[in-house]
Amino acid sequence: MTNLYIKDFPILNRKINGKRLAYLDNAATSQMPKQVLDAVYEFDSMHRANVHRGLHTLSEEATNMYEDARKKVAKFINAVVPEEVVFVSSTTDAINFVAYAWARKNLKKGDIILVSAAEHHSNLVPWQLCAKEVAANLVFIPINNEGELDIQNTKVEWSKVRLVAIPHVSNVLGVVNNIKDIVKFIKKKVNDNEHLPKILIDGAQSVPHIPTNVQKMGIDFLVFSGHKMCGPMGIGVLWINRNIVGEIGEYKTGGGMIKEVTDKTATYSHVPERFEAGTPNVSGAVGLGVACDYLSKIGLEKIHEIEMNLMKYSLSELSKVDDVIIYGTKDYQKRSGLLAFNVKNIPSHDLATIVDTEGVAIRSGHHCVMPWHKRQEITTTARLSLYFYNTKEDIDALITGIKKAQKLFMGVN
Ligand code: PMP
Repeated sequence: MTNLYIKDFPILNRKINGKRLAYLDNAATSQMPKQVLDAVYEFDSMHRANVHRGLHTLSEEATNMYEDARKKVAKFINAVVPEEVVFVSSTTDAINFVAYAWARKNLKKGDIILVSAAEHHSNLVPWQLCAKEVAANLVFIPINNEGELDIQNTKVEWSKVRLVAIPHVSNVLGVVNNIKDIVKFIKKKVNDNEHLPKILIDGAQSVPHIPTNVQKMGIDFLVFSGHKMCGPMGIGVLWINRNIVGEIGEYKTGGGMIKEVTDKTATYSHVPERFEAGTPNVSGAVGLGVACDYLSKIGLEKIHEIEMNLMKYSLSELSKVDDVIIYGTKDYQKRSGLLAFNVKNIPSHDLATIVDTEGVAIRSGHHCVMPWHKRQEITTTARLSLYFYNTKEDIDALITGIKKAQKLFMGVN
């Protein structure tokens, strides 16, 4: 199958163990196209300087490039203004930001933080700590048989819910949750504008793969990582609905976020600078801006369509192999491009090692979602995760690798 995009990704020309690389670990991190690699090189080789601090030419160029990147990211998620976009280092950093700068300031004893029963540790551990500190309670939205958040069957005292922090797409179940409907349901349940809970969406596995429009989601925070969407590592985004900026306190403090400092006091700069203490990851932001342009040029609908077709093929090919257990829905139309599975009697780490000999990169382990694995009474799963530069040949290579593992382990075939 011809894929128009492979040529943009130098790494996809690599051979791994003598085989063509089939990179199926995009949920962990994606690859960067030449356009992004070049933009980062161009910044670091020709424009590198600190931002917002100098009046010299390079500093002005760097500042303009950094702020242009913010505009590109804002456009990508349809933020109302670029100032709603705060650059952080990752999804994890963004969630910790909200846990410290909003939650610790606004939550009190007996309040409820609602998360899902299949949370990535990055959207769980910060809330465990926060709940402990303010004596709030963590309550879990169950997952239905299809792997969707079952908000209708959530047993919780709705009037006490102050924060809902959930994934748009779980990194182990792969289902696209209907955030608009979930938010509508929550708001109807709470039914009291004064106490409407804040809603944080973990977009780490959705923003890179499906169109995102924050203005239509009815949410307060959206968090995602650059490295999962063809951008550099070490850059992430915290989108904050501009209507709630007044409720947010300080998290990281220091240089770059102040207006005036005396020996004992400080006043703070405007948003978003107030939330970006210290030297930011300027080259990362520049690279992410170019990644947003790159993805937009392909089109997020197109990206989703490519992944759905590949997911349909993956589900069908995996189902033909004996002893493969698939987790989550088998309806490819409900899924994004990731799929957790196991092969009976083959530990997932062994499977990942064996398919690597065929040039195939998949993930194995608990994928930072230990509680969900424990509830399934399994320790680990294997996970394939797609992006628009994958092909059916990549899936075929995985199937060859799985059969090789079965042969080695059980003498099957
Ligand atoms: N949430 C989800 C759903 C994820 O898949 C990941 C990454 N696996 C994270 C959060 C954490 O992202 P990062 O490591 O970039 O902070």
